[in-house]
Amino acid sequence: MRLEKRKKGFFDKELETLSPRQRENHLSKKLLEFVQYAFQHSQYFRKALDEKGITPADIQGLQDLEKIPLIRKDDLAARQKEAVPFGGFETIPPHKAQRIYINPGLVFQPEMGEHEIKSWAEALYGCGMRPGDIVQNTFNYHGWPVAFTLDEALQIVGITGVPTGVGNTLMQIRVMQALKVTGFIGTPSFLMTVAERAEAMGIDVKKNLALEVGFCTAEMLPEGLRQRLEEKFGMIVRQGYGTVFTGCLGYECYHKNGLHIPQDILVEVVDPHTGKPVEPGATGEVVATNFNPLFPMIRFATGDLSLLITEACPCGRTSYRLKKILGRVDQATKVRGTFIHPWQTDEVAAQFPEIFKYQVIVTRKDHTDVMTFVAEVKDETVDKRLLKGRLEKAIREMLALKGAVEVVPPGSIPDWHQKIVDRRTWE
Ligand SMILES: [Zn+2]
Repeated sequence: MRLEKRKKGFFDKELETLSPRQRENHLSKKLLEFVQYAFQHSQYFRKALDEKGITPADIQGLQDLEKIPLIRKDDLAARQKEAVPFGGFETIPPHKAQRIYINPGLVFQPEMGEHEIKSWAEALYGCGMRPGDIVQNTFNYHGWPVAFTLDEALQIVGITGVPTGVGNTLMQIRVMQALKVTGFIGTPSFLMTVAERAEAMGIDVKKNLALEVGFCTAEMLPEGLRQRLEEKFGMIVRQGYGTVFTGCLGYECYHKNGLHIPQDILVEVVDPHTGKPVEPGATGEVVATNFNPLFPMIRFATGDLSLLITEACPCGRTSYRLKKILGRVDQATKVRGTFIHPWQTDEVAAQFPEIFKYQVIVTRKDHTDVMTFVAEVKDETVDKRLLKGRLEKAIREMLALKGAVEVVPPGSIPDWHQKIVDRRTWE
């Protein structure tokens, strides 16, 4: 298939090109109906609103979402120990479910809702898969919903799926050859394993395999790995992001400039402590609402940090995008209201080959957070003043925060060190 065809088109053009205002109305209407529904049918949800002293009538639009408490995965798992199997979130008795999925930690859920499956279908299309493709799905089909849901999503787009499941690399390669498989679904690390194993068998993966498009999820996709995979196979590799409880929450289009939020999933980026939305461009926790009538998740907190991009994308989709996932909430440090994460500070340091090690130290002075980036140089002879100025600029750009810079000689930072150290005391 020509690459041109994979770059263009929409899974659902009407919804994908709504104006921000139209999208807000679309989601707002769905939300009001869904809150009413969940309040009537989900024991958990009724109790959660009762405890807050609110009723569905208090939710008049997206702006009222913050009144609804967040659902944390730990809480979901704990509730399932008390109300077996689904924790009171469900709206049906277990024997009415078509399937019961089992997630790690014995966390149960009934089958996916229509919107959740559709969100993955939109993602597969968005990343370049098209009817006519033969796609090998290498996720594990046992227990958890990931492989099944992607399988159903392939069917919705009209793509032929090959459910090989996980592992058995040799068999996977034989199948790819025999069926002239054009698409791959799985983790990026497994795709790399396929390449290495095939090469060891004397197979030229670019010439002897027909792969043109890969959809990776369930794992971070570092840019360097993407490039290597794309070059090796001569294919495009795009990623999707989501959770088993909410469906897909973001996918890359051809332009790979962030993760488009699917149409019928409500995604917020919030301050994890207050549950209130943060401004577009500010880092916060990804929170999602799934519109699944069997297992309503309203404001499921993912624990992942990202930020919203509101500018239009050249692909024509008007949805907001999540910048890539920046890390986990529990690994981040909040400085003057902004999260900083080792992932980001690594990226700052990586721009400076003259830096050998670094440590970010957060302290407090006159009731204000102070962030100091301590950079240990490889070589004493560098121009410290120049480096300091360039570093300050990079920190401002990358972390959206002003930070002090200290350049220290080789050997100053211990070998085993934490990248971000919080030395604040609160009195
Ligand atoms: Zn796009």
